[in-house]
Amino acid sequence: MKFNNIEFDTYFKNYPDHNGFFGKYGGSYIPPELQVAMDEIAEAYQTICKSSKFIAELRKIRREFQGRPTPISHLERLSSSIGTGVQLYVKREDLNHTGAHKLNHCMGEALLAKYMGKKKVIAETGAGQHGVALATAAAYFGLKCDIYMGSVDIKKQAPNVARMKILGARVIEVTDGLATLKEAVDAAFAAYCKEYRDAIYCIGSVVGPHPFPMMVRDFQSVVGIEAREQFLDMTGELPDAVVACVGGGSNAMGLFSGFLNDPVDIYGVEPLGRGIKMGDHAASLTYGEEGIMHGFNSIMLKDENGEPAPVYSVASGLDYPSCGPEHAFLHDLGRVKYDVVNDDETIDAFYTLSRLEGIIPAIESSHAVAYGMKLAKTMGKGAVLINLSGRGDKDMDYIIEKYGIR
Ligand SMILES: *Cc1c(COP(=O)(O)O)cnc(C)c1O
Repeated sequence: MKFNNIEFDTYFKNYPDHNGFFGKYGGSYIPPELQVAMDEIAEAYQTICKSSKFIAELRKIRREFQGRPTPISHLERLSSSIGTGVQLYVKREDLNHTGAHKLNHCMGEALLAKYMGKKKVIAETGAGQHGVALATAAAYFGLKCDIYMGSVDIKKQAPNVARMKILGARVIEVTDGLATLKEAVDAAFAAYCKEYRDAIYCIGSVVGPHPFPMMVRDFQSVVGIEAREQFLDMTGELPDAVVACVGGGSNAMGLFSGFLNDPVDIYGVEPLGRGIKMGDHAASLTYGEEGIMHGFNSIMLKDENGEPAPVYSVASGLDYPSCGPEHAFLHDLGRVKYDVVNDDETIDAFYTLSRLEGIIPAIESSHAVAYGMKLAKTMGKGAVLINLSGRGDKDMDYIIEKYGIR
């Protein structure tokens, strides 16, 4: 399929290019000592990802450890409550081991570490979700795992800190500056510069310098490949639209990559939070501009000094001031439409899906559900497939405290 002069039959061969560019986005803007380490990872990945042994081992892990394929569920009661005849479906990444899509790329990254002969994986974490997924993968492979986390986040996310420790990871407290995610990233990168001979750095989304946006997309593409086949099996047709929430953008790239070459409308949903004022949302593609942060060129939210702007979302997994470079590319091409839902719409969708379908979604995923519901109201007929990126157990305390039982 051709779209805006891009041939999508050969899309995955051509994008990213050899240097990690999706058009002008992506690349690698990092200090030379880190570039050495990234080049090593890129080279190893290019070879290892094609080896039949690696592919077979990853398949076995997905089937026997992660519980893949995850099913697609038809949301019959929710669809009838909308009343337009449009049918809603969800891809159940909430049923993936550890309760979200993040394990898809963490198992891939840790398997790559093993094949490269590394003894340790290093990462930062904010809300702790990436840290838990990576600590799970490290335990599975018998790798050491160092997770850098700001002391403010350590206090807020006590259950996830406990999970990481039980899984055998070292949680390293970062006390510099505001002691949250940004400082944790800096500390983790600094450690990696010293330790890269024995360790690899594992990024938690389709962000960061090349090869991570490509590698994480490839590991997540299992979501889209499964979903396309399952949906065809279930209904005999393709969905009319697919929807996913976008923080860094990994669950979205996973689902979208299965449908880029199909006549299917694709929607990425960003968090509008409390509103359009800077600092009240994290809708980078909707309100941002081109810029470089965290080692890659993309579309980002900047403050008056051109630095990453403060962002907010009710979903801690979505509050990132930029997004994966491939999303910026697909945005400019017009192949994927990016739109927003706010906190209130999200929380409504959270309760509605729980009550009508018996599925308690993560607040991140509730953004996609809210948008899918809105979309279904505007369509006359057809089917919408939503990526349910994770389950809501992690959000229970927050929901009860802030919104109560509805
Ligand atoms: C981390 C997280 C996200 C956001 O990450 P992406 O890279 O944008 O997918 C979305 N949903 C859940 C459940 C998460 O844990």
